[in-house]
Amino acid sequence: MPRVYLPLLKTCCKNSSDYSLSSFSQYSKSLWNSAQSKHPSIDRTKPPSIRRAITRPHSSTVNAWPYIYSPKTDKMAPQLDSYFRQVDALSENFIERLRKAVGIPSVSADDERRGDVVKMGKFLASELESLGAEVQLRPLGKQPHKEYLELPPVVIARYGNDTKKRTILVYGHYDVQPALKEDGWATAPFELTVDSKGRMYGRGSTDDKGPVLGWLNAIEAHKKAGVDFPVNLLMCFEGMEEYGSEGLDDFINDEAKKFFKDADAVCISDNYWLGTEKPCLTYGLRGCNYYSIEISGPGQDLHSGVFGGTAQEPMTDLVRVMASLVDKDGNILIPGIKEQVAPLTDDEKSLYGDIAFTMDNLYESLGSQTSIFSDKERTLMGRWRYPSLSLHGVEGAFSAPGAKTVIPAKVIGKFSIRTVPNMEIEAVNKAVFAHIDKTFAALNSKNKCNAKLQHAGKWWVASPKHWNFTAAAKAVEHVWGVKPDLTREGGSIPVTLTFEQATGKNVLLLPMGSSTDAAHSINEKLDRRNYIEGIKLLGAYLHYVGEEPMKET
Ligand SMILES: [Zn+2]
Repeated sequence: MPRVYLPLLKTCCKNSSDYSLSSFSQYSKSLWNSAQSKHPSIDRTKPPSIRRAITRPHSSTVNAWPYIYSPKTDKMAPQLDSYFRQVDALSENFIERLRKAVGIPSVSADDERRGDVVKMGKFLASELESLGAEVQLRPLGKQPHKEYLELPPVVIARYGNDTKKRTILVYGHYDVQPALKEDGWATAPFELTVDSKGRMYGRGSTDDKGPVLGWLNAIEAHKKAGVDFPVNLLMCFEGMEEYGSEGLDDFINDEAKKFFKDADAVCISDNYWLGTEKPCLTYGLRGCNYYSIEISGPGQDLHSGVFGGTAQEPMTDLVRVMASLVDKDGNILIPGIKEQVAPLTDDEKSLYGDIAFTMDNLYESLGSQTSIFSDKERTLMGRWRYPSLSLHGVEGAFSAPGAKTVIPAKVIGKFSIRTVPNMEIEAVNKAVFAHIDKTFAALNSKNKCNAKLQHAGKWWVASPKHWNFTAAAKAVEHVWGVKPDLTREGGSIPVTLTFEQATGKNVLLLPMGSSTDAAHSINEKLDRRNYIEGIKLLGAYLHYVGEEPMKET
């Protein structure tokens, strides 16, 4: 997919609930402009590879959602308890490690910070080496459209090489969004500042340095506790995520059958809980097709006092075409879109009732009560499993305060469609262009209309019944004492689909931070509790991975 368009927008779309254009800093704006079932009768006296072979086949009674198991009998207390104790004992060291990482301003969108991004990659590599991992810093070449800049390296690493163990590939990123104190931060953004409630403020604390260091910390706590590391860990940490992951897709595709070839499943910790109290596992993301409609006529901008009433106006046409795309309740009015949406099944519908989310949560993040739906289920479905069409803006329109009487000669309307199963990028394009052409033709305008696809990324949905998810669900229940919500997100994390397609393996999104962490905004933070319990969670997940029967559902 083209990487040149609106790089900050692409990543900021990740979590629609915690980000809005209004939270953009002046600095960011300037950069914008530049750029199981219960596994039956496991014999725990045998190593996992043997256990796997003796588990019974997947039973049809296990179709019920989401992961049928008895947490109490599944607890692997002996190893995990000493691991957890070690995490607690090392917690100040782990916060210190995060402090060092936050102290490196690895802003990928800022050319002048490129040295710091590289420094952060080297810091990670040296920490991993000191923990006994095999590490490589892999160059990605020059930055597209900025050939004077070398892309920061991808840090790839392997910890453990035991063919009897499973291999998990984890991804994270070590670059961060821009941040300046004068943007409105209460503390210096590149100094980790912990307040009396254990909130650890600092750029990158939650996105994504905390989670990345979580994997390193899990290795260290296992070593110091003398607990055998339960899997082989492959790591892939990039330094350009906040700028569209330049160069990464090709790298992942190249390495899928090389460095990443042993991966049995993938885990990404780079999103957030839906709220603040209940952890979640994320199994779906929407895709995004982004379009522009250019309407032009006059050779230059005109004055309405002279030309009003004498020329057909591009803006008048554009407003009509854009108004034909969607109604006030978000219904997409383009024929051929709704027909592509996968029907809602009873299994899927049953998932929504238990999710820890209220309409008040929505109203709070909306800053108003102007919701389309009045109930939680339909609201979450509207965000996660149905497509949406949003009108974003008009380039070339008069938008400054005042009452200028200009008639713009050329206007470009921007809109996007968030896509879901089973919508195909090409089929959506076809329906969109046919509708725009027909609507514009019906205006009988003498102006010219030219609609284009700006960029497109496909939706992603994984099977949450896969052992990768079951292992994570058990780990959440062990660490947090609650079954996780199974969520999707309304935004996109393109690397997720890349890993799935390149490796052919199940991908799990396992977040560490909560919805209030303000990733991408001012005063980004990670709660100490989420960090420390999150380190336990990542370690526990790997232990449960070692225990799960290998079934690809
Ligand atoms: Zn991130």
